[in-house]
Amino acid sequence: MAEVTNAGAKSGEDGVVRGQDIARGVANLVNLSTPLGLVIAGLGRARFSRGPRGLLLGTSYRLALPPAVAFTVGNVILTRHTRDELLSRPRLLAHEERHTWQYVVCLGLPLIPLYLAACGWSYLQSGDFASHNVFERTAGLADGGYPEG
Ligand SMILES: [Zn+2]
Repeated sequence: MAEVTNAGAKSGEDGVVRGQDIARGVANLVNLSTPLGLVIAGLGRARFSRGPRGLLLGTSYRLALPPAVAFTVGNVILTRHTRDELLSRPRLLAHEERHTWQYVVCLGLPLIPLYLAACGWSYLQSGDFASHNVFERTAGLADGGYPEG
């Protein structure tokens, strides 16, 4: 059993969905952030698939905006990468997964204007959108590919 679990964990698809993952999924469905994420994924002609821990993946996203390597709306993690490329970057996936919890804490869509305000604050402080952005800092700057400020 351990071999199966380890193999699954390595690929990021261990199939284990915990109670907290289900609670997050329900919260981000009800607060409408996941439905918005699905709409954005559709607009970006992303390929949908199920990710680890109840996450939804929208890979091979095709729109130019936002310019980030990956971004998260509700329980939907969107990226221009392929599914295999995303799953091969567990630190990036962990960073984006932390953003899914931020949607829960912010009751969904209010996260978006709060996040944009945090980007503005960070830009005024440091000239970039992440270094002093509370959402990016708590999601882990290094895991998200940002320099640690
Ligand atoms: Zn981030």
